[in-house]
Amino acid sequence: MSTALDKNNVQEQKPTRHYDVVVLGAGPYGLAVSAHLHGHGVNVATFGKPIHFWQNHMPAGMLLRSYWWASNLSDPEGTYSITRYFQMKGVEPPDPLPIETFIDYALWFQKNAVPNVDETYIKVIERTDDSSYRITLEDDRVITSAAVVMAPGLNYYQYTPEFYAHLPQSLISHTNEYNDLTGFAGKHVAMIGGGQAALECSALLNEQGAQVTVIVRRQLKWLSKADVGTPFTSAIHAIRAPQAGMGEGWSNVILEKLPYLLHSTVKSWKNYVLGKMHGPAGSAWLVPRIIGKVQVKEHANVVKAEAINDDTAVRLTLSTGEVLEVEHVILGTGFRPEVKSLPMLSQDIKDALRTYRGSPVLSSWFESSVPGMYFIGFSAARGFGPLYRFVIGSAAAARRTAAAAVRYAASVKSGARS
Ligand SMILES: Cc1cc2nc3c(=O)[nH]c(=O)nc-3n(C[C@H](O)[C@H](O)[C@H](O)COP(=O)(O)OP(=O)(O)OC[C@H]3O[C@@H](n4cnc5c(N)ncnc54)[C@H](O)[C@@H]3O)c2cc1C
Repeated sequence: MSTALDKNNVQEQKPTRHYDVVVLGAGPYGLAVSAHLHGHGVNVATFGKPIHFWQNHMPAGMLLRSYWWASNLSDPEGTYSITRYFQMKGVEPPDPLPIETFIDYALWFQKNAVPNVDETYIKVIERTDDSSYRITLEDDRVITSAAVVMAPGLNYYQYTPEFYAHLPQSLISHTNEYNDLTGFAGKHVAMIGGGQAALECSALLNEQGAQVTVIVRRQLKWLSKADVGTPFTSAIHAIRAPQAGMGEGWSNVILEKLPYLLHSTVKSWKNYVLGKMHGPAGSAWLVPRIIGKVQVKEHANVVKAEAINDDTAVRLTLSTGEVLEVEHVILGTGFRPEVKSLPMLSQDIKDALRTYRGSPVLSSWFESSVPGMYFIGFSAARGFGPLYRFVIGSAAAARRTAAAAVRYAASVKSGARS
């Protein structure tokens, strides 16, 4: 592949530094893989804003769906584990875990385990002729690296159904856009969707003085009580539905204990696990904050959405025939991977990336069809399973990806790749 032919090639500037591995992203996955790469003693650079997504794209006051112990960030010796964080603070871990506590823990982890994060964003990643990468940063510095680990998270993948595209921007938004929901106090808001983000935003909106109507295609699904850390009521329950980080049940335990198992199964089974077994659901502790507090329209689709009253309100016609007038619509429609839309990837890399349903096709070492380029986190969930949508998957991904990237960098150094 030639960099000179690349349309995204911004300028022929000389690289100032060379690294064995560059990590894009400083969220839970980027930080964990960086900590493991440092543990291997290689020359690594990490770019991104530490825990930025959690601080800017999730609502203040949110409680985590995952148990506190399943929100651990991994380093080689476990020196900066969440257990150690709580010991150091001298407090009992709360369940559910408030987002503010998780952010404080994750920033403590970053400062200690990956202190050298560069907050500059990566603008362009290109392949070079010697099987490594040329990386241009937002401030136009140019560096090179033998391998690249992509941990871009969810933000690039916000899913906004085309159906709502005609509505003025002032009337429609996505849950991903909010850290602060107080601006909706006194307004009537329609929430589209029944997953954790949609339901938790609805509860917070209601508690902050908004009137909320949740519109959901099917019946709301709640995770059972054991899913949120309530002690088991009986030994039988513990045997029938053991506790795992993502929820109760043997299937979750298996996914957690054998984190690479799903990768080796057929696509249809992976799709079933991702779609049916891990479809949208709300934590049990949300039930009393939703039921009787916000209006819920189940088994309902929006079939028509029109701006009314000089674009100050929206009239929604539902598949049930009901008509609602609200002042704003929030889409709790989640995220869909579309790896070829990542703006920093050069056209050459996009052309060479094999994908399935928008996700990169990955080897069992998280390596894409572009040698030396690895994808972890949400981008890897289609191939590896729902574990990798959550923080809990970052330990397995970090360990394996770091080992593979180190091997790849060594092979580039030895000339075996050219
Ligand atoms: C509302 C909501 C609630 C959630 N609750 C939970 C929960 O309770 N438990 C749980 O385990 N998971 C939860 N998740 C999922 C969780 O957010 C993800 O699993 C996790 O954040 C993924 O980590 P990441 O490192 O892959 O990406 P992110 O945390 O999204 O981080 C992405 C990183 O990439 C960086 N970046 C982006 N572009 C560039 C660039 N061009 N150059 C350099 N850096 C770049 C950003 O600055 C950031 O540091 C929730 C998600 C949502 C949306």
